[in-house]
Amino acid sequence: MKIAVIGTGYVGLVTGTCFAETGNSVICVDIDETKVKKLSDGGMTIYEPGLEKLLIRNLREGRLRFTTNLADSVNESLLILLALPTPPGEDGSADLSAILKVSGDLGKIIKEYKVIIDKSTVPVGTAERVRKAISINCKSDFDVVSNPEFLREGLAVEDFMKPDRVVIGTSSEKAKKILSDLYAPFVRQGNPLLFMDERSAELTKYAANSFLATKISFMNEIAILCEKLGADVDMVRRGLGSDDRIGKRFLFPGIGYGGSCFPKDVKALVQSAKEVDYSFNILKAVMQVNERQKIYLLPRIKKYFNNDLKNKKITLWGLAFKPNTDDIREAPALAIIEELLKEEATITAFDPEAMTNVKKILGDKITFAATQYDAITDCDALIVATEWNEFRTPDFERMVSLMKHKVIFDGRNVYEPRRMKDLGFHYESVGRGVLNNDKS
Ligand code: NAD
Repeated sequence: MKIAVIGTGYVGLVTGTCFAETGNSVICVDIDETKVKKLSDGGMTIYEPGLEKLLIRNLREGRLRFTTNLADSVNESLLILLALPTPPGEDGSADLSAILKVSGDLGKIIKEYKVIIDKSTVPVGTAERVRKAISINCKSDFDVVSNPEFLREGLAVEDFMKPDRVVIGTSSEKAKKILSDLYAPFVRQGNPLLFMDERSAELTKYAANSFLATKISFMNEIAILCEKLGADVDMVRRGLGSDDRIGKRFLFPGIGYGGSCFPKDVKALVQSAKEVDYSFNILKAVMQVNERQKIYLLPRIKKYFNNDLKNKKITLWGLAFKPNTDDIREAPALAIIEELLKEEATITAFDPEAMTNVKKILGDKITFAATQYDAITDCDALIVATEWNEFRTPDFERMVSLMKHKVIFDGRNVYEPRRMKDLGFHYESVGRGVLNNDKS
């Protein structure tokens, strides 16, 4: 099939590359010329495990191209996928300006039947708005399909190639048949293609992300209670997650969720509810809990240093909002850094992939280290903000010899409290109490 993917960010690039991988002819369109040039040359614009290999193979075999030319790409293609940004507007609702602008442009370009497939996360009713925006100038027949994307950054290729389900919102039999063929290679193992109306498809995506965010915030509150009541959240988590009705995933407490999806999608759903006079109380609480959780370690760090962080050398391991990505949008690490800078602490950070992105916004306000061990040399305390695998089993002896003070605030519960105590660290994590060593 001939496919144009409009918007070549995390979703567009993965989607375009994976569709090319199954034999389709794909053109990815973006307004960012630098990005298009880099990708055309086989360079990566994001860090996503497994993607580079697929990109290079499909470029080489001529199934994947990158361009800034919307009209030519659309004219050549039957399927037009929208993978455009839908960031929060001032009131928290999804800003649809990119989607509606491109839809208007499509109306002027489309001359024969096309299927416009919305992969962006958009509020209920957007498919109708896209249809209207295209129709203003379009005389040709076309269908608009809502096909929300559920991939996770860091596991995006795997998620796209083997989705748990594919949600397709359309009332057109013709579009249904085309999308069934398009997705057939991805659902061979029997994972469902779920057909529904456009509005339900649009809401399914928000419901999924909001539910997962709720699970995280719920567990973070349980963790706080564990500390206050003298329980161990690891035990509670296991006991809770062993119940099939609850499930083991998304029960790990920590310093909150971030990224480009959960914070924005929860906010947008609250706003969508407000627009129909409904107060989505659970989600309002989820947002509040998450904001508090991002800087949950701060009062404890301040307490440890007797409320004086001035010139204390604090190291962060991890800047990305989660491991295996360079995405720093709404990353808890950034909220922590902001607070530490207010306290005039001196900050050094290390992240395997996200330092370039952080440098762009923080410049020289913090120091970036070449390795995780360089980062902790002479530090007064280490904060683990992202659970990258390489932070899980570090050389503890080396850490002991490098750190000025053996103090760790673990925002992702990656270490065993008992072991850390035995190694002589002052170690605080989330929901597991404090196993105190005297100030080291
Ligand atoms: P992104 O910001 O990484 O990429 C968007 C791309 O669109 C950018 O490359 C930008 O230059 C381009 N763009 C903007 N306006 C354009 C225009 N007029 N014409 C052509 N290109 C244009 O965004 P993303 O993370 O890929 O997210 C895209 C959508 O998918 C959002 O709605 C998001 O909520 C949703 N989504 C994201 C993820 C994720 O993990 N990132 C997962 C599922 C769904």
